[in-house]
Amino acid sequence: VSRSSHRGRGTRLACRLLALGLPLASAASGAPPGTGDPAPWLDEYRPPAARILEAARGDSTAWERIAHLTDTFGHRLSGSPALEAALRWAAAEMQKDGLRNVRLEKVMVPRWVRGRESLRLVEPFPGEMAMLGLGNSVGTPPEGVQAEVVVVRSFEELEARGDGLRGRIVLYNVPFTTYGDTVRYRGAGAARAARHGAVAALVRSVGPPGLRTPHTGALRYEEGVPPIPAAAIPTEDADRLQRLSDRGARVVVHLQMEARLQGEAESANLVAELPGREKPHEIVLLGGHLDSWDVGTGAVDDAGGSVVTWEAVRTIHALGLRPRRTLRVVLWTNEENGLRGALAYRDQHAGELKDHVLALESDSGVFKPLGFGFTGSAAARDTVRAIAGLLAPLGAQEVGPSGAGADTGPLVQAAQVPALSLTVDGSRYFLLHHTPADTVDKLVPAEVSACVGAVAVMAYVIADMPDRLPR
Ligand SMILES: [Zn+2]
Repeated sequence: VSRSSHRGRGTRLACRLLALGLPLASAASGAPPGTGDPAPWLDEYRPPAARILEAARGDSTAWERIAHLTDTFGHRLSGSPALEAALRWAAAEMQKDGLRNVRLEKVMVPRWVRGRESLRLVEPFPGEMAMLGLGNSVGTPPEGVQAEVVVVRSFEELEARGDGLRGRIVLYNVPFTTYGDTVRYRGAGAARAARHGAVAALVRSVGPPGLRTPHTGALRYEEGVPPIPAAAIPTEDADRLQRLSDRGARVVVHLQMEARLQGEAESANLVAELPGREKPHEIVLLGGHLDSWDVGTGAVDDAGGSVVTWEAVRTIHALGLRPRRTLRVVLWTNEENGLRGALAYRDQHAGELKDHVLALESDSGVFKPLGFGFTGSAAARDTVRAIAGLLAPLGAQEVGPSGAGADTGPLVQAAQVPALSLTVDGSRYFLLHHTPADTVDKLVPAEVSACVGAVAVMAYVIADMPDRLPR
């Protein structure tokens, strides 16, 4: 899931939450950081926090594991054999790490298959164009769809064109601002165009201009509106079609897509624990999603978050630290095109959600850590802010307004579980997001290790402190 600014990431999360019908984050509150001694109880955690940060800094296991995972299995789209093999590999590694109660919790996931796909410019002069079909899209008839292109810059412009869209292919050429503002066109553009009789939709990729790279991602159809095929094109191609159209040229393209839903497949959430020494029934959950889109190798989104949260627990265990409460790693399945993993976890663990002390998600990349976003009560926020002070050596002491992510959102909604999301330097995230360029070389080992340190300190202190984090 993140952006060229925090605002971008926050907006994306907010967007996900709205899609789930979830409430947005609570407002910030409490004393500003650095005023007085905020928490004398914290002093006993300075030595273990320093040990954790030191251990993480000298350890490149996290980056190496992200590389091993993504090099070996490649992309991990829901329903693919690669995702299932990656889940089994990670479970076996967690056993070797000495984590306990390692298990795969069954989840049925949709199996969407891309198939072959292409986009060809027919008029004003024939040529191939770069494209990626959008996730969940239907395919075209075998012979493809060919039609004149109507370029619009907003939904308002689309509505103004009205009947002029019948039989046409709509291109949404909306420059990237924040993820939340721009992703609406990827998510709803096809359905909105189909309402007016369009036969297919193209979307300018949701990301900043890159090197002519298309970005995939999920779309949603509407009840009662015919599903039409939809694809993303690079910003450069969108601007080219815009210029042609502005000059009054007739633009015709031919779109061919084999995309289809092939029922459901069995998948799983991977769960592993470091049982608490005093209050094992109280759970501090941390995780990321192991599934990815079917382009690139999903290193940034979200092998990175999966491995960082797992490594945080392994590091705590390797140092011989055993917190009062249980640390539970959850690697969710199917975040990208269904969220079935997150919903299944919520339902399968409904009885113990009241004892989920915290849910921490890493799904905004594992670049240089800046801190965390937090969703929860004002009292809990003050505690989190005090703990974040321990991360000053990393420059990761920031506590932002919104901590619920795509996979933790259902827990916030169902049981008001306090939620943290790892916040990182987001300057590269949306350049790589859902593209063939999402590969491990984009991640810097020292930054990944710093993320492990930040997550481990935060999770350890919340799992061990005498009083439970208040709701
Ligand atoms: Zn993600």
